[in-house]
Amino acid sequence: MKHYIPFLVFLAIFGYGWGQGAEYVKEIVCRLSADEMKGRGYSQGGDSLAADFIASELKRHGTKPYGDSYLQRYPLDIFTIDGVCRLKVDGKELRPYDQFKLKPMRTLTKEWLEKARWRTEKDGIWYIGVVKLGMSVPLTPFDDMKAPYVVEVLDSVGTKPPKKIKADLTVTPRMGYLSQNVCGYIPGETDTMVVFTAHYDHLGMMGDKVCFHGAHDNASGVATVLDIARRYGLSKPHYTLVFCLFSGEEAGLLGSSYMAQHPLFDLKKVRLLVNLDLLCGGSEGFMVVNGKAENTTPFVNRMKARNKERHLLPEIKLRDNAANSDHWWFSKECPAIFIYTLGGRYGDYHSPYDTCDKCGIEDTYEKVLQVILAAIE
Ligand SMILES: [Zn+2]
Repeated sequence: MKHYIPFLVFLAIFGYGWGQGAEYVKEIVCRLSADEMKGRGYSQGGDSLAADFIASELKRHGTKPYGDSYLQRYPLDIFTIDGVCRLKVDGKELRPYDQFKLKPMRTLTKEWLEKARWRTEKDGIWYIGVVKLGMSVPLTPFDDMKAPYVVEVLDSVGTKPPKKIKADLTVTPRMGYLSQNVCGYIPGETDTMVVFTAHYDHLGMMGDKVCFHGAHDNASGVATVLDIARRYGLSKPHYTLVFCLFSGEEAGLLGSSYMAQHPLFDLKKVRLLVNLDLLCGGSEGFMVVNGKAENTTPFVNRMKARNKERHLLPEIKLRDNAANSDHWWFSKECPAIFIYTLGGRYGDYHSPYDTCDKCGIEDTYEKVLQVILAAIE
């Protein structure tokens, strides 16, 4: 028995921590996508609530802040949808999100108008009747401040504009709103860094009642970054490990853009930056955006080799670089990849139904993580 004691102690310290990954990430996804986080948007301080929670996790896992705070504040311009958010068309009350959406005026393109069944204007706001509502996008600033949005209405009344529209819609411009990125690090044996990033913001609220939960997009990526911090927090890793969670992604990669322009660490010392977004799936493997670049290929090859030797995931696909997530700004300065999962379980994209119960992160998490971590060894 004596011989087993050191082994049991080892298991207690390391085996427990590493083995609990799937439960930990699921718990974090559920916390971040709960109603209380207000869709991690900019109404009712959703972004701050999420940032404080993330900072407390980074602290709990033993990471250090840059300076005296885990938060890097920066201003952004954004509109939010506040209050009751009601729309009555010809006496019929419509459900927010399911039957109507508020969209930035800039989305009012020629093609979109051609698809419209009708359009009408009331009190300076355009109402557009459509057969199918488009994707939800945040109300980012628009040059005409008087009419920053249009209302897309699921048309159930026919091809003509409704006779009566009664709207109680409050859209609040928040210019210079102070949001924040959240960063922490674990010093390694060398100051060469591996950086893990994920955006924690989502689409916020549509009025008081409709919450965009954003479990897949991107509580899942944040949970994974926090789990990596948790796993390495008590050790001295070879490379310095940096963990950065951004806001402003949905509004145009704004938090990461600020960070790239005001870096807290030397970007020239970054060996690899791994951005994680949309991690609830994985049954079909994952995609590596910017995985074909000369400076990222050695890392991608390492992931592929690990995947093959351990028979972990069906496929690792590669795509050319694109400005589709936060890795984009950093890819000009250092090797940077963006990973999103393929297949698996998750709720509807950019909808209130992207919830924790629909997120299957626990199904393939350990396999996905084993492949990702091969890149940084
Ligand atoms: Zn998104």
